[in-house]
Amino acid sequence: MASISSDRGDELDYVRFLEQRIRELEAEISLLKRELRYYQTELEKVLQPPLIEAILLELLPDGRAIVKSSTGPNLVVHILDRIDKSKLMPGAYVALNQRGSTIVEVLPQREDPYVRAMEVIERPKVKYTDVGGLKNQIGELREVIELPLKYPELFREMGIEPPKGILLYGPPGCGKTLLAKAVAGESSATFIRLVASELAQKFIGEGARLVREVFALARRKAPAIVLIDEIDAIAAKRLDVGTSGEREIHRTLTQLLAELDGFDPLDNVKVIATTNRVDILDPAILRPGRFDRLIEIPLPDENGRYEIFKIHTRRMKLEKDVDLNKLAKLTRGATGADIKAICTEAGLHAIRSGRKVVTWRDFEYALAKVLKSRLRPYVNQTGYEWYAYSKKSRGIDPAM
Ligand code: ATP
Repeated sequence: MASISSDRGDELDYVRFLEQRIRELEAEISLLKRELRYYQTELEKVLQPPLIEAILLELLPDGRAIVKSSTGPNLVVHILDRIDKSKLMPGAYVALNQRGSTIVEVLPQREDPYVRAMEVIERPKVKYTDVGGLKNQIGELREVIELPLKYPELFREMGIEPPKGILLYGPPGCGKTLLAKAVAGESSATFIRLVASELAQKFIGEGARLVREVFALARRKAPAIVLIDEIDAIAAKRLDVGTSGEREIHRTLTQLLAELDGFDPLDNVKVIATTNRVDILDPAILRPGRFDRLIEIPLPDENGRYEIFKIHTRRMKLEKDVDLNKLAKLTRGATGADIKAICTEAGLHAIRSGRKVVTWRDFEYALAKVLKSRLRPYVNQTGYEWYAYSKKSRGIDPAM
């Protein structure tokens, strides 16, 4: 009897042991399955042909695109239907299938010198009415850019040649880029912006190649305005061209001058360059037929500042106590960009206070915030009015 019950006990133990073993094996199987799936996907990746990286240059009206492949040539390629077309901007990174015939993926944007150095806007929405002050400068640009772009035959009949290149110079933030965009907008031209300081950091041959490509693009997209920002980065007077970096910058400049020399003044491509340092430019670029029209974009005067305030408060609801004339008086020495910042700060202050209407107190806060940081070094020549005002309002003698 005793031996029967001990046999049963052994059997039960054995069954429990087997059940436990089954559970362990099942866990092991699921682990191995997971491992198998991992190796399968890894194997798929290994077996997949590589994709070719390219940069999108232009979308064609027939739904195809021109890309610059990383292997060298420009290609006309198809675009897979499932691709989100809104992401296909000029300068976007894309992946081509292995035959290089189709865009199969839009790659994440990343900081690439090629992309950073160039911006293309088909027809900028900016108008002359978005530019405050600068009436004479607008008049001059209309004459030398807008008119020849729109009516080249007028110039042909008169036998006169408009300038090919215009140089806008003056302190930063006073509207050089804005003005160039407005001319493009009003002339219904494509706006292509090149940042020269980015070109100056290129690998050997890249800067010059980019200049060549930008002008080729401008011709295809004509009428077009090419804006070369911070041209002093590639066109400063050279003492010597000793290092390879300097030689490279020189090569980029030479390419730019060759492009300028190569086109006709009545071609529908115009070039505008901007600089904060006209005094350090290489005279070669200022020769007739190159950037031979210089236009100064100075700090805005009181009337200019009033107009800039008007532009940037256009869409704001202002309390009656907000006096734009007074703001213009208090901001002597401020740039257009400063004024824009003041308006934004005032608006933000109103929002933070739970209001939709912007008051004079919001502007006082904004003036203090923006002008304090920007004008302190020049307080005696420029921001004096505001400092006197802010001291007076705090009961301090401004002369102190
Ligand atoms: P930088 O030399 O730094 O490139 P910039 O002279 O090209 O400066 P912008 O980039 O045109 O200056 O100006 C910066 C911003 O400041 C503009 O986008 C615009 O909002 C505002 N701004 C500057 N000047 C004016 C102006 N005259 N009228 C209206 N807004 C202006």
